[in-house]
Amino acid sequence: MWWDGLMGDLMSVDDDALGAALRVAFRAAVEQGLVGPDRPVAGLLDVAGIEATVADLRAAFDTPGVTVTHTLAVKAASLVPVLRLLTTHGVGAEVASPGELALARAAGVPADRIVLDSPAKTVDELREALALGIAVNADNPQELARIDALVVGSASTGSPLGLRINPQIGGGTIGAMSTATDHSKFGIALRDPGAEDWVLRAYLDRPWLTRLHVHTGSQGMPLELMAAGVRAVHDLAERINAAVGRPQVTTIDIGGGLPVNFDSDDVRPGFRRYADLLRSAVPGLFSGRYAIVTEFGRSLLAKRGAILARVEYVKSAGGRRIAVTHAGAQVATRTVFAPDAWPLRVLALDAYGRPKGGERVVQDVAGPCCFAGDLVARGRMLPGLEAGDHVALLDTGAYYFSNHFAYNSLLRPAIYGFARAGGAVRFGLVRAAQTREELLAESGAAYADGLTSLRPGSAA
Ligand SMILES: *Cc1c(COP(=O)(O)O)cnc(C)c1O
Repeated sequence: MWWDGLMGDLMSVDDDALGAALRVAFRAAVEQGLVGPDRPVAGLLDVAGIEATVADLRAAFDTPGVTVTHTLAVKAASLVPVLRLLTTHGVGAEVASPGELALARAAGVPADRIVLDSPAKTVDELREALALGIAVNADNPQELARIDALVVGSASTGSPLGLRINPQIGGGTIGAMSTATDHSKFGIALRDPGAEDWVLRAYLDRPWLTRLHVHTGSQGMPLELMAAGVRAVHDLAERINAAVGRPQVTTIDIGGGLPVNFDSDDVRPGFRRYADLLRSAVPGLFSGRYAIVTEFGRSLLAKRGAILARVEYVKSAGGRRIAVTHAGAQVATRTVFAPDAWPLRVLALDAYGRPKGGERVVQDVAGPCCFAGDLVARGRMLPGLEAGDHVALLDTGAYYFSNHFAYNSLLRPAIYGFARAGGAVRFGLVRAAQTREELLAESGAAYADGLTSLRPGSAA
């Protein structure tokens, strides 16, 4: 298979120090020509590192007598080889669109490890999900009514079905990423007048509703608040089961949202701390009465990937040194537009991809896009970069490879997985660089006359 480059005997890597493997890979990527004058930017993913993080996740939640299903929130890495690597470790997929579902299926993720969450599922999407037997969390009463019609119309569905709950416990430090606020667009707002009674009725009327789902936010959420959200949903499950008189709610999906630190190679807070907090704040979750589903994204991949880019020019403006690189808003969109919420470490590397020495000077690290704000670091103290050097944007293994911004029609860069075998670094393609032909195709080249042909008097 074409993704075989990612697989194989990769667990034998001895030095798994976080970040160390990536630093070795930067040099190898330059040496092997994956990044160079004609291919000035690429993404890198550390296969053994991802596997080590998955092992951490499993170990943190592993509890005798409790079935735990881990999924990756696909929006964090919409790359088939990543989903394929994870599914070989039993990690499924949380999908939120027909496209993400297609990626999960292409990766071979089994239906019983796929969960569909999204606030705007169409009837067709719901029908497909129920036909495939994948789990669905309904977002709102109107969606539940659509599911009613589909469930009644079919003999039976193998899909586990639940409701997404907004426990309205408050937001974190990034408003746009907080999903459990009073006015969040997601789920059933549990504290609104009459909402809990409606939920109880919904479960009483539908013996096939067996799950509850909560995802309180992504990045910037205090762990205590995340745990409070899970506790609210666990307590709701207990009240539903008491009202129904049997353990109808069998599964609690706790979502993802574990934040990642972007300031060092350490992993903070990490899965262990969160799982331990949940064990003390919501002991019932681990009692064996419930199966657990998780949907982590950023915390599974962020620290295992990086963007490597070439410095094209170095200039000076108003006394400020500026390194013009090929990594800007097209690959680091959030960092460029919301630098305070999404700061990144930028590593200065020399022409060979080795850590750059020398005196640190204040400089801006700019991208290739044609707008003034296209900077991934402002006024940062770094060894003086020169043309032909490289920069690495660290902790970019989640979201950065899946949320490309098509500004200036810059071609999407290639992404490579890597693994160390003996002293060598082996790379495998995860996604090829976008070609000029692909760019033309998605830019309407086949319809070049689409507008001129509509002018009065022009032939049809
Ligand atoms: C985005 C999202 C996740 C993953 O969030 P992370 O912060 O990347 O862990 C999980 N579940 C749902 C419903 C989401 O929208």
